[in-house]
Amino acid sequence: MKAKGLARYRAKRDFSRTPEPSGQRKVSVATRLRFVIQRHAARRLHYDLRLELGGVFKSWAVTKGPSLDPKVKRLAVEVEDHPLDYGDFEGTIPKGEYGGGTVQLWDRGYWEPDGSRSAEAMLGKGDLTFRLYGAHLKGGWVLARMRSDRYHSKRVNWLLIKRRDEFAQEDEADAALGDDRSVASGRSMAQIAAGTGRRARPFMLKRAAIPRPARIDKSPRSRSRRAPHG
Ligand code: MN
Repeated sequence: MKAKGLARYRAKRDFSRTPEPSGQRKVSVATRLRFVIQRHAARRLHYDLRLELGGVFKSWAVTKGPSLDPKVKRLAVEVEDHPLDYGDFEGTIPKGEYGGGTVQLWDRGYWEPDGSRSAEAMLGKGDLTFRLYGAHLKGGWVLARMRSDRYHSKRVNWLLIKRRDEFAQEDEADAALGDDRSVASGRSMAQIAAGTGRRARPFMLKRAAIPRPARIDKSPRSRSRRAPHG
């Protein structure tokens, strides 16, 4: 069941070429729901918001990054569910592969739905109110699904909005975005791209499942591509 939810994720990637996890690694059990935000210098820099739910990460690409100013709504494009072990991924996806570019673990922590309805129900209605307990992002947030446009856009667009509370910063939309240090390794984007500095401290993975430093073996016999489980 879990694997089926990741079929789109796996279909887009060749795990013999990208260091991204395939969703096979053992993830630690947590009593709270986890979230991560990865800064991703792909063709355009964006921030990938991932909320743990139902054994996967529900995921949105926030094109300009989260705004701390409640007046400034940021486009959040719905993307495919990601495996939970993706929440520890920091590194560089090779050029020419899907999402090629450097990925930095920018924020992480716990989240919870806000209010009496379940997260699943609110997502289904396209109106998720939630709270974040991260290093950068805290307090109340909203993800609001936009009506699909009349040209039948394939993308599902949402808006990510900060709610008014003690963590909001009026007129300082980008206040959180200036910190170019990984929340997991302390590394800058440039260090991650160069493959230098410390490795990321795990948040999602069980200790025994932590991979050795990524070495992509390009020899054809060494790795068979795993077919997605039905
Ligand atoms: Mn991305």
